Amino acid sequence: MAPLSRRTFLAASAAVPALVVAGCSDSGSDSGDTVPTTDAAPTSAGPGDSTSSTVAQPTTTAPPDTLPAVDLPSDPFTLGVASGDPDDSSVVLWTRLAPDPLNGGGMPDDDIAVRWEASADEAFASLTASGDEVAAAATGHTVHALAQLPPGTWFYRFRVGEWVSPVGRTRVAPAPGTPGGELRIATGSCQNYSHGYYAAHRGIAEQQPDLVLWLGDYIYEGAAADGALPSERAHLGPEPTTVVEYRNRYARYKTDPQLQAAHAACPWFVVWDDHEVENNYAGITPQDAAEAPAFAARRAAAYQAWWEHQPTRLAPPTADGLRIYRSAAWGDLLTVAMLDGRQYRTDQACGDVRLNLEPPCSEVTAPGRTMLGDEQESWLFDTLDTATTTWKVLGNQVIMADATLNGAILNFDMWDGYPEQRDRILQHLADTGSTNVVVVTGDIHFAAVAQLRAGERGTGTPVAVEFIATSISSDGNVGPELTDVLKSFPDLLDANLVHRGYVLHTVTPEQWTAEYRIVEQIDDPESPVNTWAKFAIDQGTNTVRQLA
Ligand code: FE
Ligand code: CA
Repeated sequence: MAPLSRRTFLAASAAVPALVVAGCSDSGSDSGDTVPTTDAAPTSAGPGDSTSSTVAQPTTTAPPDTLPAVDLPSDPFTLGVASGDPDDSSVVLWTRLAPDPLNGGGMPDDDIAVRWEASADEAFASLTASGDEVAAAATGHTVHALAQLPPGTWFYRFRVGEWVSPVGRTRVAPAPGTPGGELRIATGSCQNYSHGYYAAHRGIAEQQPDLVLWLGDYIYEGAAADGALPSERAHLGPEPTTVVEYRNRYARYKTDPQLQAAHAACPWFVVWDDHEVENNYAGITPQDAAEAPAFAARRAAAYQAWWEHQPTRLAPPTADGLRIYRSAAWGDLLTVAMLDGRQYRTDQACGDVRLNLEPPCSEVTAPGRTMLGDEQESWLFDTLDTATTTWKVLGNQVIMADATLNGAILNFDMWDGYPEQRDRILQHLADTGSTNVVVVTGDIHFAAVAQLRAGERGTGTPVAVEFIATSISSDGNVGPELTDVLKSFPDLLDANLVHRGYVLHTVTPEQWTAEYRIVEQIDDPESPVNTWAKFAIDQGTNTVRQLA
């Protein structure tokens, strides 16, 4: 998007030296306990060398187009780097200058010039492109640089004054109509920092996928007394309501070196769910009616901080909100449609009661209830109907499959609570003869695989497959004793209610495979990440099977 790129220029073989910068971690007690080890790790420092103040100084002469000197108290790149929203000619590069990340950032009040550099080689022996952006004080000194680059794999970094950021690896998509090759996608959601370590993110970084689709709950809004285990993972401060408080919460999460490594590994497409603002809010309706008078301002602050901290090419939010639903394509292989199930939804029906075994109240079937809103639904149908790629993937927040129990709605926050729009979407897929639609889902903190059908549960027309990721670190909120109940549902192939983790998808023109990667010990940042189960969709079948 035009506002992002102010000045872009080619710097042919500018011979900028590869500078070494120590990685950054929380300045608290977890510093030094986890250092990413992959090629794409955001640090070129060695293990154990990850304190926030250890920075190697430049050892060679500066390039001729040197940036103005800036007076910063310490390394401003404490939150790592990220990239996102690639298309076939560009990708967004992100960082935020924050020498004191947990306390408002610690930057001077000035706007600061930041240079970005992209290279085909990790050592930056020559630059393919570079540009300058302003890290504005008004937006928390964040940088969203739109790097114009040809399709392929690129490395990038940022420079401010004498400081150089960690290095990230990113991808620019193949052009429309060209082969998409084999695409590896990680899907994840729900990373409550206070519930455990990010071994799952280390796993993502080690796998070096081509893309991450982030499905929401990037932060949680709970206050410091949120029962953190272990204690150095505790949330800091009260429940955020202001931009500065939300910034500090994002910073708490983004100081994690394993999360930084997953961002540095590949570009992400990010959407939000509820906890980026508040649990189970709906549109402009807060969870608790008593908060209603202040909620519009709180939501605006949360949306602003989300925008500041995500590698997205979206323009910043306005007073009306922020349209984050959007699509992208990867050659002729895949169309990505990222959905927003929070901003436009009708309030949850029937008092939003969980695990209620009574028949639902009549409100749930009231005409016009919506999760996506009318505009987004029209956009989704148009995106699906005009996509010419083999596969279409919907980045979705809450479970779309029918998870009712003897007619009772167990969770009114999920698509079961919005059956009219859910049925219309699935029927649209049937009516248009859609094939190869995959729904990837977060929110629920357990892993499951579901057959989606138009019409009757268990017997209707198969129209899509749903891969429900478990959480990266958030505690399970459905007890493992319910595993057999879930597995008895007609369209639910399997479920894992015990483990945290992510899903690694491998997509080819012939087949989609989903490998569920689970964390063995959530209280150990070095926990092994192993495979729980693998599932496959053969092109054209709209059905899923478990692989041995
Ligand atoms: Fe969650
Ligand atoms: Ca959620």
